[in-house]
Amino acid sequence: MSDFFEDVKQIAREVVAPFKGLGITFGQLGERKTTISFPDYRRVMGVRARWRHVLNRYDNGLEKCIGCSLCAGACPSNAILVVADENTDEARFSPGERYAVRYEINMIRCIYCGFCQEACPTGAVELKDVFEMAESTRHDLIFTKEMLLVPDPNRERVD
Ligand code: SF4
Ligand code: SF4
Repeated sequence: MSDFFEDVKQIAREVVAPFKGLGITFGQLGERKTTISFPDYRRVMGVRARWRHVLNRYDNGLEKCIGCSLCAGACPSNAILVVADENTDEARFSPGERYAVRYEINMIRCIYCGFCQEACPTGAVELKDVFEMAESTRHDLIFTKEMLLVPDPNRERVD
């Protein structure tokens, strides 16, 4: 007799189970969605987000980078290449004696630790919250100075 009641209970549990599952599904319909329509909407990143680098300028347009290579020395991934040259009166790029004639970051090697930003004495290199950096080839993931340098605020856009 007790086996009979156990069987009835088991059948009842199995009949009710799908409705319990559906109850959870319908209960979620009213919940706020956790997905967003990227890239139309971008989730706001945390204040300490560290993604794509930029090379900053001063308000007068001069480059903050003085080609000292401290960022390259601090980089644990050996991802930064800096080649410095002298500023002249005819061709001045930064306020100091030297500037980076060539500056590259290999984004494949980079681990986004932010040590380069910490090491920079002028605030030239900075990691921003831009994370859309997918490229098709390895070569395209070597970001050059031209790609990293922010636009000159004193130069009018022509487009
Ligand atoms: S974030 Fe870290 S790994 Fe990437 S370039 Fe800077 S120091 Fe190197
Ligand atoms: S980014 Fe900063 S640390 Fe790196 S070479 Fe330029 S001034 Fe020096």
